[in-house]
Order: sequence, then C-alpha cells, then structure tokens
Amino acid sequence: MSKKNQKLSTKLIHAGEKKPLVEGAVSLPIFQSSTFEYTGAKSYHDLKYIRLNNTPNHNVLHQKLAALENAESALVTSSGMAAVSTTLLTFLSPGDHLLCQEVLYGGTYSLITNDFTKMGIQFDFISGDDPNDWEDKLKPETKVIYMETISNPLLRVPDLKGVINFAKSHKLLSLIDNTFASPINFRPAELGFDLSIHSCTKYLNGHSDIVAGAVIGRSNLVDEIRQKLNHLGGTLDPHACFLLHRGLKTLAVRMAWQNTSGFKIAQFLENHPKIDKVNYPGLETHSNYTLAKKYLDGFSGMLSFEIKGEIDEVDKFLNALELPINAPSLGGVETLITRPCRTSHRGLTQEERKKAGISDNLIRLSVGLEDPEDLIQDLEQALEKCG
Ligand SMILES: *Cc1c(COP(=O)(O)O)cnc(C)c1O
Repeated sequence: MSKKNQKLSTKLIHAGEKKPLVEGAVSLPIFQSSTFEYTGAKSYHDLKYIRLNNTPNHNVLHQKLAALENAESALVTSSGMAAVSTTLLTFLSPGDHLLCQEVLYGGTYSLITNDFTKMGIQFDFISGDDPNDWEDKLKPETKVIYMETISNPLLRVPDLKGVINFAKSHKLLSLIDNTFASPINFRPAELGFDLSIHSCTKYLNGHSDIVAGAVIGRSNLVDEIRQKLNHLGGTLDPHACFLLHRGLKTLAVRMAWQNTSGFKIAQFLENHPKIDKVNYPGLETHSNYTLAKKYLDGFSGMLSFEIKGEIDEVDKFLNALELPINAPSLGGVETLITRPCRTSHRGLTQEERKKAGISDNLIRLSVGLEDPEDLIQDLEQALEKCG
C-alpha cells in the first residue's frame, strides 16, 4: 500500500514514526535534552538543539502533519500565533501589502492591524467569497492572500478554489488558517494552497492542555519559515511535542464524533423558538452552505447562535448551563461556550465588532465529546430559564 493512499486514521497512528522503535518503545519517548552531540552539521540550522526545531519529538510531528494534509513539509511552533506571526513575517517586509479575509481570528486581526501598521506592512480586508473585491484591492506591492477555512465566530467559508486561482494569476502566496476544519475536514495542499496554518491548541491536540501551532505546505516555503522561527525563537518544547503527538493519534475519531454532534446540535438550535440565528456551515440556511459542501468533508463541532432578547438573557442562559464550560478556546474534548464580544473578539472595538456581524448576543459553542443528546437536554433546560 502506498503511504500516500493510506487513510487519515492510519496516517495519524503510523506516519512519521521512528523505525526501528526507540528501545522498542511503542510510544516515542520525550527527548528532554536541549542539545545533542555534534555530528558534522554544515549549517547552523542543522545543529541539533531544541530551538532549532529538529529533535526527534519535532521530527515525528513534522512528518505526521505533512502526511495528514498530503503536503511536502511541516513545522510545529510554540503556539498558533507563533505560526501565524512567523509565517507572515517570513514573507512580508515593510512596504509589502497583504490581502486578508475580513473577520479573522482576534489575535491575527490585532497582529495585523496593530503590529503590522507599526512595521509599515500594508493590508486590506477582503470578502471571502467576492473575487471582484479582491481585484479591487490588489496592489503592485501585494505579496500574500490570507484566508481562514471556517472563520470565527460566524463560520463563513471562503471561495477556496477562487482564492487559489486568484493567487496563481497574480503571483501571490496563498495562506490559509485551517484550524477550524482540521486536516480531517479539509487539506489545503490538495486544493493548491501554498501553506496551511494551525493552532494545534484546538482540534489537533484536542485535550485543552497545551498551546501549540503548526505550518504545513510546500517545503521550500516551510524551510524559510523554519529559519525565521529559529531566529524568533517560537519553538515547541519537547514535552508539549509529546502531548501534541499523543493527542493527534485520536484526531480522526474525535473529529468524526464532533462533526456528527455539531450537526445535531445546530439542527436542534435552528428549530428552537428562543434562538434568532444559527451559524453552522452544514445548515442549508448558512450563507456559505454551497461552498462548505463543495470543499469540506465535514462541518466540525463549531457553531454560533444568537439568543432572542436582551443581553441579560444571554447571561441567564450561560449561568443555567450545566455541561458546557464558559471558557474561550475550542476543539477539545469538553464542550466550551463563550461570548466572542467578551473573549476572542474583545480586542476589537464595539464598532468593529458590529461591522463584522458579531453582536453582543452572539454565543459560540465548541462541541466536545459528551453525548449530543445530553448536551441538547442541557441547552433545552437553560433556554427554558430565559425569556
Ligand atoms: C486559537 C486560534 C489561533 C491562535 O492559536 P494559539 O494556539 O492560541 O496561539 C489562530 N487561529 C485560529 C483560527 C484560532 O482559533
């Protein structure tokens, strides 16, 4: 069987694993050693040292992640934001211009609008699904187009193939934050994206116990990013590598469950009289349903919805819930619930949030691995207590 044709669940277990096993250990041990014996490395970047991202715990992750997305190469980083910032700073210099999707992950949005402004990197926000808008904002200095597979918190899906075609015809690098989809639901390299970025803190690790990131894609580009990361220092610690490696092995079974549960809960909420609007790309009522169906193998466990009535109702609802934990972040085994206006999008002004369609009544749910019937019962009883 060619390794490329193996199914994702098989690759999750076997891709990149050291052969022969180290001392016969079925689980790769943690190499808790900052430096390694010199064996004639010719370049600084090939010296074996934790910050240079090349210990056995890094290497197994790099190979596994690349195999998962059918890409050439991968690199893990100390957080999702280390992956985002290091990647963008590798390809953008003062004077360059970036096209990025409106309503980005809050941290990415602040990085671009605050830090890039100070550094003299130009940017424009574009709609994910309107190529005319991309054309309008294109400049001679444009170098990169940046999207998110499923955006936060409105779960919009861009015209993914359109983005790639546009990037190719204007010689731009195409970058996509694939965190919300995970490689189970979308593999950017297969469609033609140059690079895919993940916050591994979310679905890839899946257990809400580490912060980590990754960038996956063409090997010449990943090599450039690796050298930048070696200088900026956002390396993933071997113990965190070990936990990410362990979490990754169950990604396929977790994601299959979360795809199913997310869909069931979205349908339940959509039919509930106290809910105004449900954002879930698997629902036919979602504005990007057709794009989502065309490109994604599943719709994930992420959804958002608005409760009818005043803000107090939202607090009443959140306080009445017994299973979901009120906390930011997502993609773990526990169901988490948050209000983007207080957490992920707190960095935006109220004006910016309003423009982005993020109302104060918007609630985001990351469906975990509890039984969906229990979660639905809990949502039902909490909704009864408001309004
Ligand atoms: C969480 C997240 C990030 C940032 O990741 P960290 O691991 O918290 O640094 C980036 N993009 C998306 C879509 C995220 O959800």
